Amino acid sequence: MENRSEISQLGEFGLIERLRGNVTLTNPTSLVGIGDDAAVIQATDDECILLSTDMLVEGVHFDLSYVPIHHLGYKSVAVNVSDIAAMNAKAEQITVSIALSNRFSVEAVDALYAGIRAACESYGVDLVGGDTTSSTSGLIISISVMGRAKRDQIAYRSGAKVNDILCVTGDLGGAFMGLQVLEREKQVFLADPNMQPDMEKYEYMVGRQLKPEARMDIVYDLLEAGVKPTSMIDVSDGLASELFHIVKSSGVGVRIYEDKIPIDHTTYETAVEFNLDPVTCALNGGEDYELLFTISKDDQEKIKNHPDIHFIGYVHDRKDQNVLITKQGTVVPLRAQGWDHFKG
Ligand code: ADP
Ligand code: MG
Repeated sequence: MENRSEISQLGEFGLIERLRGNVTLTNPTSLVGIGDDAAVIQATDDECILLSTDMLVEGVHFDLSYVPIHHLGYKSVAVNVSDIAAMNAKAEQITVSIALSNRFSVEAVDALYAGIRAACESYGVDLVGGDTTSSTSGLIISISVMGRAKRDQIAYRSGAKVNDILCVTGDLGGAFMGLQVLEREKQVFLADPNMQPDMEKYEYMVGRQLKPEARMDIVYDLLEAGVKPTSMIDVSDGLASELFHIVKSSGVGVRIYEDKIPIDHTTYETAVEFNLDPVTCALNGGEDYELLFTISKDDQEKIKNHPDIHFIGYVHDRKDQNVLITKQGTVVPLRAQGWDHFKG
């Protein structure tokens, strides 16, 4: 009998590792390929092009019964720009490819593109092309983004050094709790279509889920402060998962402190309401699109008053000793659960 291996056994990251092992780069301009938030391509002696792509699939990444299609357009650009920001670079162009079933009207596509254009405007990005095709099962959006940076300004996942400070922007777990709220309201609505959900209390989290922003502002703030992160990644799958990418690529370990993890108070209260642990939501909830980065200790002073950058821990030399220090002072090993689309 023919051998058949299940993708779920490898998981998303295992599968990518397997693909990566079979790829070699041949062009001298391909500086960095698979394995970071974006590929790095040499443009001139001192400048590089950054290239990244992300696909959003209806029923997997979004549910149009509660996601306004305009927001979906905005978000699909924001998540791509976020991968360029995660290289400490500026996004400049995107291409947008869509596959549509006949369920979608011209007006729906107009609304999707209004969202895409709004995001292009807010990030200073140009829409320069794409592809259009039909689909038998709903909507698929695939966006590629190009960015640019000085070669010596690019931040990789692999640059974290012992004694560096771990920083994260904004607050975490909000987008995940927003999704929980939206899913719950959907079930309530399906049970009784006359029920009008009271969403005011959850507005912040629902906004985090439906309208995430790429943190390009942080890239500019760091440049202005004269701080180049030693390593950087965007938080798309959850803080724990992203920390593991950094420690694995950099060959280091991390220690983070529970009381330093930024969680908005409405996220905290809603997690408790849902019988979830707020810290677990911040560690393992996805889609916040904040930036996680390390800086040299000497640079901490330069950004210590930034209102949206939080110091959550530091880097040490003991690989495989990635720990969370709880509020009670207990040492707990970090585990990366993240979002795995291949696990049921
Ligand atoms: P992110 O969450 O930052 O978008 P991913 O986890 O999707 O990153 O991807 C990690 C790395 O693997 C990236 O460098 C990406 O380009 C690469 N990658 C993902 N899927 C594939 C694929 N099917 N073929 C080749 N490279 C891939
Ligand atoms: Mg990323």
